[in-house]
Amino acid sequence: MTRSVRFAVKILWALWMVLRLGFWLFSTVTRLTFGLAWRQTFGRSTVYVRRDWDDRGMGRVRWSDLHGHRWDTTAGGTQVENPLPLIHAYIWCDKVRGKIGHSCAHGEGPHNIKVCMLRQDNTRRNWRRLLELAGPDRRLAD
Ligand SMILES: [Zn+2]
Repeated sequence: MTRSVRFAVKILWALWMVLRLGFWLFSTVTRLTFGLAWRQTFGRSTVYVRRDWDDRGMGRVRWSDLHGHRWDTTAGGTQVENPLPLIHAYIWCDKVRGKIGHSCAHGEGPHNIKVCMLRQDNTRRNWRRLLELAGPDRRLAD
């Protein structure tokens, strides 16, 4: 009796170890395949924006929320003229996550605000995509 109980416990323990190993393998494989694909898909869809190139705050926005990409030398809000053209786009201020130089103080929101994207804030892939939308890098021209 005790022997068969001990045997059953051993079997159960072995099964448990196999299950744990299986689970570990499964989660590792999932992390390496689906997890990566997930990050690639959704991580890529996040763009980092600033109100102006020297804005200390940085906001995260979704690709699909940006519109009117263009090279421009005037920043939104302060209307400061930049020495170099930067890629700008428009976005509704309630779509920006994070703190950028915009307050909704000047009137009822959401506001269509102009933001700029800097190369150093964004991934290389995102930057290439921005260039495709805004046109060739104008900092190299004139
Ligand atoms: Zn606002």
